[in-house]
Amino acid sequence: MNPFNELGIRSDIVNAITELGFEKPTPIQESAIPLLLSGSNDFVGLAQTGTGKTAAFGLPLLELIDYSKNYPQALILCPTRELCLQISSDVKNYAKNLPNVNVVAVYGGAAIVNQLKEIKRGVQIVVATPGRMLDIINRKAIDFTQVRYVVLDEADEMLNMGFQDDINDILSTTPDEKKTWLFSATMPREVREIAKKYMTDPKELTMGKQNTGNVNIEHEFYTVKARDKYAAFKRIVDFNPEIFGIVFCRTKIETQEIAESLVKDGYNADSLHGDLSQQQRDKVMKRYRDRSLQLLIATDVAARGIDVNDVTHVINYSLPDEIENYTHRSGRTGRAGKTGISICIINAKETHKIRQIEKVIGKQFTKAEIPSGFDVVEKQLFGLVHKVHNVEVNEKQIDQYIPRIMDEFADMSKEDIIKRFASLEFNRFLDYYKNAPDLNATADDRGRDNDRGSRNVGNSAYTRLFINLGSVDDFTRGDLLGYICNNSGISGRNVGKIDMKGVFSFFEVENEQVDKVMTGFKAVDFHGREVKIEVSGEAASSGERRGGGGRSERSGGGYQGGGRSGGYGGGGGYKGGGNRERSGGGGFRDFSGKSREERSGNTSGGSSRNGGERRRRSS
Ligand code: AMP
Repeated sequence: MNPFNELGIRSDIVNAITELGFEKPTPIQESAIPLLLSGSNDFVGLAQTGTGKTAAFGLPLLELIDYSKNYPQALILCPTRELCLQISSDVKNYAKNLPNVNVVAVYGGAAIVNQLKEIKRGVQIVVATPGRMLDIINRKAIDFTQVRYVVLDEADEMLNMGFQDDINDILSTTPDEKKTWLFSATMPREVREIAKKYMTDPKELTMGKQNTGNVNIEHEFYTVKARDKYAAFKRIVDFNPEIFGIVFCRTKIETQEIAESLVKDGYNADSLHGDLSQQQRDKVMKRYRDRSLQLLIATDVAARGIDVNDVTHVINYSLPDEIENYTHRSGRTGRAGKTGISICIINAKETHKIRQIEKVIGKQFTKAEIPSGFDVVEKQLFGLVHKVHNVEVNEKQIDQYIPRIMDEFADMSKEDIIKRFASLEFNRFLDYYKNAPDLNATADDRGRDNDRGSRNVGNSAYTRLFINLGSVDDFTRGDLLGYICNNSGISGRNVGKIDMKGVFSFFEVENEQVDKVMTGFKAVDFHGREVKIEVSGEAASSGERRGGGGRSERSGGGYQGGGRSGGYGGGGGYKGGGNRERSGGGGFRDFSGKSREERSGNTSGGSSRNGGERRRRSS
């Protein structure tokens, strides 16, 4: 018998969850289910994402609903559309063998009409994000007077996102006698206050120590000079060829730039941030969930509620502004009993922040060393050897070629052949990494480094600026130069490289002129749209430009060969002909050998990839 039966869950539901692979309850399910099944208590559960909390409240709810009545009896509030869809789909799956169960998901960014229609048809369990829920309540399209259970999931996130007032308004439409179940990964004062305000003598359950990070997650930090951050990040990725990761950045622009640079360097990456339309976000998330995307570069807000299992690494490319957010970030890995690694790439001045995070999560970080070029080469080579050893051979297809291949190698020993095959890849790795510098920052770098990261990095005389105008606004490079000079009063000589994109562009200006540009554009609008200028998170390229430098590890062109047509893999390697793959020869990277423009067609970052879609202003 499945132990869920013993917890009091009926067989129809147990059969459904058994099919989902739930063989035994997770710790929070084991403790919470019997408590919640009584239906007589308010409840506070301190639990990270990935602990199985959806079933911990979803299964008791399904037991407590009266299916002969077709009006709202339970309301589940959660912070994001992604989580809302996830919860409603999970609950529907648990209930798939029960007749007459009606679950409706209510969330922003989708047509309200369909949601209203579904509600009208009759619903017992409403799963909702606060904004859209309130909208529907204000339209008097739902009646919560008979709600018996309210679940506040990821309460800390909802408050972080500013939903406090909406939650108050929503709860005021539900009866006083209802039971409230609150789940939160952390318990800041604001969440405590909610508990105090809306609950009577709640039963409390803490999974692990309060605020403690998941035990399955290891935490590491790497110290590098600010200007080496990107190169160091790529090394870490190269050292982990099977990585399936989420990379956190602080700003939307940073996510976009990192994703764009990675794509240019041949990695399989895309960005997820609040300026993407819902459709674009769904597309990126689908690719990530399907594992056809290897690296998801995200802001904290955009990544909220992401529930993807098997994420191997969370990389904090920038540390979060709020330390509490570190728990949410790292909680995206190590889910459902799996192990995961959470990595921070910091500069020497940020070491104290690591100590602060350690206090919050109650766990120690390991100080790790950026692998040397040699380490990476070795790792990649043996990864390759291992894969060749284990590759599934399609006997039927390959057989026809074998005699000719054998002929080609007739004059060579087994050792010779292996040496040659290994050299084919090894030479290429070596070529890229032979002069790779040590990227670990020393104690001496502490004073020299600067926290701002973007300005003057690499002693560039230029600062790279973002502007929300681009070729879709009918600007040419020359037009944009004129527009910048006219509005800010600087001369064209002060402007460096202009990088035109579709809906936005980047341009470099001499460091001394940055303030003038910022001031000049303070109240400028373009056809009624406010023109926005921001310092971009990436260093200006002028140092390399002026020095006439070739491609460096720092500035792009990773050894994945993304920037080269027919590079690593595309040009006759064993990966040739393979598209984006996970199962084939080399991790998930896109080794199709297509040009960068072709490949970037399905990313959301740069010009062509936006397909002319207008970049929404951040609110
Ligand atoms: P949650 O914390 O609810 O987001 O759950 C995290 C993941 O664990 C989801 O993919 C669930 O399907 C899975 N899960 C939840 N409970 C169990 C269980 N008892 N056994 C196996 N997997 C589970």
